[in-house]
Order: sequence, then C-alpha cells, then structure tokens
Amino acid sequence: MNVGIIGGGQLARMLALAGYPLGLRFQILDPAADACAGQVAPLIQGDYDDAAQLARLAHWADVVTFDFENVPAAAAHILAERVAFHPPAEALAKAQDRLSEKTLFWELGIPTPNFATIDSFEELQSAAKRIHLPAVLKTRRLGYDGKGQRILRTPQDLEPAWQALGSVPLILESFVPFEREVSVLAIRRRDGATAFYPLVENHHREGILRLSRAPCFMPELEQEGWDYAHRLLDRLNYVGLLAIEFFIQEGRLIANEMAPRVHNSGHWTIEGAATSQFENHLRAILDLPLGATTAVGHAVMLNCIGALPERSAVLALPDAHYHDYGKTPRSGRKVGHITLRGTDPDAVWKGLKQLLPLVGFRPEAFG
Ligand code: AMP
Repeated sequence: MNVGIIGGGQLARMLALAGYPLGLRFQILDPAADACAGQVAPLIQGDYDDAAQLARLAHWADVVTFDFENVPAAAAHILAERVAFHPPAEALAKAQDRLSEKTLFWELGIPTPNFATIDSFEELQSAAKRIHLPAVLKTRRLGYDGKGQRILRTPQDLEPAWQALGSVPLILESFVPFEREVSVLAIRRRDGATAFYPLVENHHREGILRLSRAPCFMPELEQEGWDYAHRLLDRLNYVGLLAIEFFIQEGRLIANEMAPRVHNSGHWTIEGAATSQFENHLRAILDLPLGATTAVGHAVMLNCIGALPERSAVLALPDAHYHDYGKTPRSGRKVGHITLRGTDPDAVWKGLKQLLPLVGFRPEAFG
C-alpha cells in the first residue's frame, strides 16, 4: 500500500519508520530538498500548492495524509478529489483558524477560555474590558509553539501587542491560571471505530513543549477528555489521529487547541504504548484494525530543542531511547527527543533527573 505525506518533517519521518514493518511504501512532498523525512523515504521536492506534484502524488498513493496543519486549503481540495485524503479537510480548516476551532469546541459543549474575535484596536479595548485581564492575544492563523501571541497583563500592554500582531485577524482569550496541561490522543477509523491513549501530562517552556509524561493516572479527567474527543471525532467524521490540548483548572478540562495529525505529546507511545500513535494513524487511514493503545509501563518524553545531547551519555541510562531527527541544529528547532520508559516509576524518575542536565535543564526543572 502506498502512502503520500504532505510535509517532510520529523512527524512524516516517524510515520514512515512506523509504516515499514507493515510493508507500506511512502512518498513525501516538501519544498525543502533537505526535509528530514527525505532521509528515510523518497522525497518529491515541490511547493504545497504545486498542482502537478499534488496530482502526481495522488496518482501514486492509495491514501494521502499530512504532517502539519497548515496545508493550503486548495491543496487539500485537489487531493481530496482524487484520492483518499485523511484526516478530513474540514478538520484541517477548523484547526487552521483559532476562531473556528474554539467555536466548534463551544458548539460541542467542550469548555474553552472566554474568547472574542479582534479586527481593530477598538475591538481589542472593548474585549479586554469584557474578558478581563490578564488575557492572551493570538493570531487566528499560523500560530504554533507560542509564536504569534502576547500575554496582556495591564491596559498598557494593549497598544504594543496590537502594534506587534494587529496586521492580521486576531483572537483574544482569557488567561487560564492552569494547574497542569494535558492532552488527549484519539483515533478513529473510517468505519467509526475509535481508540484513546492514556491522558498525557505536558510541560511547556516559552510556548514550546519540553516534556510529556504518561500515563498520568487521572481517571475522571481522562474519561472527560475521551468524551470530548469522541464528540470531535464524530462531528468531523474523522479518520486518523487527533490530538487535543487542555488546561486543567480547578479540576476541570478547558480546551486550548486541537491538531488533526500525529502530535509531539504522543511521541512517548513509540516505546511507551502497545501500538505507537504513528502506526495507529497509518492503520486508521488505511482502514486496518486499530492496535491496542494501553501504556507499557511509565514513560517520560523530553524534547531536544536546538541541539542534541551526546548519544552515548543518553544511551548509558538504562531506560533511555534516543531519537535523532537528522536535522541541522538551529536555535529553537526541535531536533530530536528522548523517551525514558520503564516498569518502575522511581527508576524512570531517577533517570529523568540524570537526563535533564544533558538537555540543558536543572535536575529539578519539572518538579
Ligand atoms: P498555543 O500555541 O495556543 O498552544 O499556546 C502555547 C502555550 O501557551 C500553551 O501550551 C500554554 O502553556 C500557553 N497558553 C496559551 N493560551 C493560554 C491561555 N489562554 N491561558 C494560559 N496559558 C496559555
């Protein structure tokens, strides 16, 4: 079976690596000749809106998927007309615009921070009064890893934030003084069969995910998160893996955003779950039976941002699994991750204390 992937980053790379044991073949479309997925699968170099290249990929593939959510709507349209294209274009469209995404959550009864659409400085002033400060001003489109957003703490912050972001449509959200951040990874097959991974706890620094831990043993919240995910999967007639990020505030889940693709907070599943998110995404889009999503022991995943630690120092830790994405290191760039997985939570915790300094954190950085 042939799988086309739009986007050739680390997610496409890990999808291909997960698909080879199933006998799948891959081709990847990316504008960059050195896209890191091109090291493990044939790369078609072309723009995402290159109609000829899209048609070529659609002709070759049995199914086309993507590794990032800013696939142009026109490209999704060309592909969906010619070949099985999953997850659905509607999920992409909703996730590309924070306003449609939050409106969808709201329609499905999934709690969100209060929000307002902002198209002028006057609207920002009146929304800030209604929503109250502190609040977060975000670009509606193309924001990721905390980029394109400003926290407004006092009325004096409005003018500079508007100057910095106001050239594009914005959304203002109430600032959630959350206790924790978690995510739900959910999968749906074409026939409607679903599966859910254990709830994942996430830690961000400067808007970028640094550490994920699973399972995190919060059964009631896990059930609530699965229920919300189920509503989204059914409403979108979804096929593939969907990730939803939540804040926990006063013991309740508040949805932040969703990603219609495999997700960084699911990398722990490669070693930490019976079937990885990458394999299950492929199974879902190819209409194969889903694999078990149960956790295998305790897992902690640490992102390597900007640089990778020395391979031998990491592999000296008994529970460590090293993932180098084959990218040129650059400040702020995700270049790899390390997962610690073991049956004894104390041993995993001890390993984490040793690992943190290798990726630039103090041993006590994550409590
Ligand atoms: P995002 O790009 O929306 O995923 O935001 C990146 C990170 O910024 C989140 O994981 C949170 O840590 C923080 N953040 C975003 N929105 C809010 C909010 N409304 N209240 C508090 N923190 C937020």
